[in-house]
Amino acid sequence: MTTLHIDWTACHGRGLCAELLPELLATDPWGYPIARTGGDVDVPAELHADAVTATKFCPRLALRLRAR
Ligand code: SF4
Repeated sequence: MTTLHIDWTACHGRGLCAELLPELLATDPWGYPIARTGGDVDVPAELHADAVTATKFCPRLALRLRAR
């Protein structure tokens, strides 16, 4: 299992990651991503590839995948 961590100090709130991972992320009223489950996001195996894509495409390098 991996978790997806959002670095709020780096994020610029355009919501690209929420578009790439709608199963796990939503956006707040200002466009910042929020975990649908709160806190760091547990990434199920079937969404791992999508989470890697979102991490790679984050323009601010604000996403990190961490092994648990
Ligand atoms: S893609 Fe990166 S910069 Fe854009 S909203 Fe998501 S975490 Fe923030």
